Amino acid sequence: MKNILLLGASGSIGEQTIDIINKYPKEFSLVGFSVGKRTNKIESLIKKHKEVKYVYLIDDALKEELAIKYPNIHFYSQKDGLAKFTIDAEFDMCVDALVGIAGLEPAIETLKKDKILCLANKEALVTGGHLINDLLKEGHGSLYPIDSEHVGFAKCLACVEDKDTIDHLIITASGGALRNVPLDKLATQKASDALKHPTWNMGNKITIDCATMMNKGFEVIEAYYLFNYPAEKIEILLHDESLVHAMVRTRKRISYVDYSKPDMHNPIEYALFLGNAYKEVRTIRNLDELKDCHFHTFNPERYPAIKVARRALIDGPSRLVALNAANEVAVNAYLEDKIGYLDIVKLVEDAVKSTPINKYPSLEEIKEIDRITREKVSEVINK
Ligand code: NAD
Ligand code: MG
Repeated sequence: MKNILLLGASGSIGEQTIDIINKYPKEFSLVGFSVGKRTNKIESLIKKHKEVKYVYLIDDALKEELAIKYPNIHFYSQKDGLAKFTIDAEFDMCVDALVGIAGLEPAIETLKKDKILCLANKEALVTGGHLINDLLKEGHGSLYPIDSEHVGFAKCLACVEDKDTIDHLIITASGGALRNVPLDKLATQKASDALKHPTWNMGNKITIDCATMMNKGFEVIEAYYLFNYPAEKIEILLHDESLVHAMVRTRKRISYVDYSKPDMHNPIEYALFLGNAYKEVRTIRNLDELKDCHFHTFNPERYPAIKVARRALIDGPSRLVALNAANEVAVNAYLEDKIGYLDIVKLVEDAVKSTPINKYPSLEEIKEIDRITREKVSEVINK
C-alpha cells in the first residue's frame, strides 16, 4: 500500500489520478491533496477518502474555516506555501500534477525526503532539471514521469536489449488545434480556437502549449533530463491520430513503438505502479506498417517555439527558466485576449535572448530569474 500526496487534485491529471487511486484501493491510499481555486472539490474528496490528513488550498480565510470543521486534518494555504506542505506531510509517493513553476519546489522537497515522485508537472524539469537530476544522482528519492511520450520512451527503452544501438528518440505531436489553419490566418486565432485540441482533453495552459508546440519543446527538454540523450538525438514527428506516443529507433532500422489510445489514465497508472505495468511495445521496420496512423514532418515556420526551446536548452538552465516564465505569462495573456496568437512565441523568444546565461542556477537564483522575467514580459504586454 502506497500513501499518496496528490498536488493539483482538481486539475485534469489530478482528477484522472484520483480515478486510478479509486480503481486500486488495496494499492493506493490518498493521504493528502492540494487544490488551487476549485475549493468546491475539497469536501467531497475528504468524505470519500477517509485517510486524508493534509489539505492545501490557496485561500487563507477558507483554510481557517475548514480547519475548525475538520479538526483531524492539517490545512495549509498560500501563506504556508506548497513547499512547506510537502515537507510537513507524511507520504510515500507524491503525484505532482500542478501546472507551471509552482510544481518545482514540491518536486525538489519530495526527492529531498527520499520519496517517490510521479511527475506530470513538466515545468519542474524545464526550470530545475539540473537540480532534480543531481538529487537523483546523489541517491535521493526516485522519479517516474507522467507524460504519455516519456512513459512511451520508458517502455520502449526497456525493450531494447543493446542500448548502444539506439540512434534516435522520436516524440510524436498532434500539431495542436490550429494545425490546419493557413499560416496567414494564424495571427487572428483566438484562445477559444486554440483550445479545441483534436485528440486530447487537458488543462487550458498545456492545450495552448500544444497549439504553439511549446509543449513539444518542453518535452524534448524533459526527455533530455530524464533519459540523458543529447537533444539532437531527440526528434519530433507530427502524427494525426495520437495513437503512437513515442518511438525509439535503432541503427538496425528497427523502431520500438508505444501504441495506445490517447488516454492519460494509462501513463498515470504506469507511473503509479513504478513502471511495473503492461510494457508491450510494437516493433516495426517501416512506419507504413501502422496502417491507421499518419505521420508528417513539421513546418518550422508554423511552430517557431521548437527552435526557441531547443536554443534555450543549448544555452543552459537560466534561459530555460526564462523560457518557461515568459511562456506562462504570455499564455495567460493570450487566454485573457490581451495579446495575439503569434505574440506568444515572440515574447518568449525576446525574454530568453535577454536573460544572462547561467549554467547552474540555484533554487534561489531560479526564483529570481522567474520573477524578473515575469515582470519584464508583463511590462511589454501592458504597454
Ligand atoms: P490543470 O490546469 O487542469 O490543473 C492544474 C492544477 O494545478 C489545478 O489543480 C490547479 O489548481 C493547480 N495549481 C496551479 N497553480 C497552482 C498554485 N500556484 N497553487 C496551487 N495550485 C496550483 O492542468 P493539467 O492539464 O492537469 O496539467 C498539469 C501538469 O501536467 C502540467 O504541467 C501539464 O503540462 C502536465 N501534463 C498534462 C497532461 C494532460 O493530459 N492534462 C498530459 C501531460 C502532461
Ligand atoms: Mg505529452
